[in-house]
Amino acid sequence: MEKIKYLIKERAQGVKIPENLGFGLIYTDHVFEMDYDPAKGWHNPTIKPLENLSIHPATMFIHYAQSIFEGLKAFKTRSGEAVIFRADRHIDRLNRSAKRICIPEVDPDFLMYALTELIAIEKDWIPTRDGEALYIRPVVYGSDLFLGVRPSTRYKLVIMLSPVGAYYPEGFVPVKILAQDDYVRAVRKGMGECKTPANYAASLLAGQKAKEQGFTQVLWLDGIEQKYLEEVGTMNIFVQFKGEVATPKLTGTVLPGVTRESVIQILHDKGYNVTERLISINEIVTEYKKGNVLSIFGTGTAAVISPVGLLSYKGFEMKFDYTDSNVLAAELFKEISAIQRAEIVDRYNWLTYADKKSVEV
Ligand SMILES: *Cc1c(COP(=O)(O)O)cnc(C)c1O
Repeated sequence: MEKIKYLIKERAQGVKIPENLGFGLIYTDHVFEMDYDPAKGWHNPTIKPLENLSIHPATMFIHYAQSIFEGLKAFKTRSGEAVIFRADRHIDRLNRSAKRICIPEVDPDFLMYALTELIAIEKDWIPTRDGEALYIRPVVYGSDLFLGVRPSTRYKLVIMLSPVGAYYPEGFVPVKILAQDDYVRAVRKGMGECKTPANYAASLLAGQKAKEQGFTQVLWLDGIEQKYLEEVGTMNIFVQFKGEVATPKLTGTVLPGVTRESVIQILHDKGYNVTERLISINEIVTEYKKGNVLSIFGTGTAAVISPVGLLSYKGFEMKFDYTDSNVLAAELFKEISAIQRAEIVDRYNWLTYADKKSVEV
């Protein structure tokens, strides 16, 4: 792979991170970009000032959604080092998504190197208050100009960065979710396990209707029978039964979340009986009535852990009292946040340190 080209903009005034960050509203000065064509492969890796992409209206991905993305986070440790959480797993997943929709894979070692270089250069943009992080958004899209349907022959990869605020600025707020059977997100052998924009487009209407009824998120049921739990909104889901913490198994329709993987590992090592299996909505209703469902929570990079306060299915409301029954969600949130900020020992080797190597800004 060729060397990265650095076009770094001087920052006379330094970096000023705004107070109220929200999510995905503010972008840092620089991006990483590279291009693919069949003759050169991935080439022209560059770290450069953020600027608009200039896109011809015939650019393939805006018509046929041949695009993939990732979402991961960088943090600053107490001693001021920049770290990225589980970057290798996200790069891995980017390449798995790429394969499914005919996008050429990227050399994972090179991408890891490019990512650490970018984070090192943009380190001053990492916010440090509780719950804050630098959100990393890689995206790859087909860039041929063509109105017919086939895989693009050329691609662009962009990594942009966005300082984000605490997901729960007022503390851990349980969400209200609606299990519905009017719409499905994905079906087996489709693209449900890929991080690709089309899955999000498929989810919007159900999400909007749930919001109109006062719910925060949709609980997705399987695409064939609308019987088995899949995901909640854009998060994976865990159900804490008496004596078992269960999460839907990866049948091809569920996004294999990195947070999901981390939670499974932590629970397993703490001695919980954690299972990956089919969980039907009827099982939840039956067990809830017997008092056997202690808590439900979602997992994902943005929120880390999101406790469910209310689950509604066909008009039957199941309530989970956060203060006494959802202790597990709070514990997991604390533990993962502490690992991410290197406040406790990184016992799983989940952090990649991004230090300035070849460049000085
Ligand atoms: C990204 C994503 C998740 C969560 O994955 P993480 O790797 O934990 O951030 C879950 N579901 C969907 C549909 C997603 O796109």
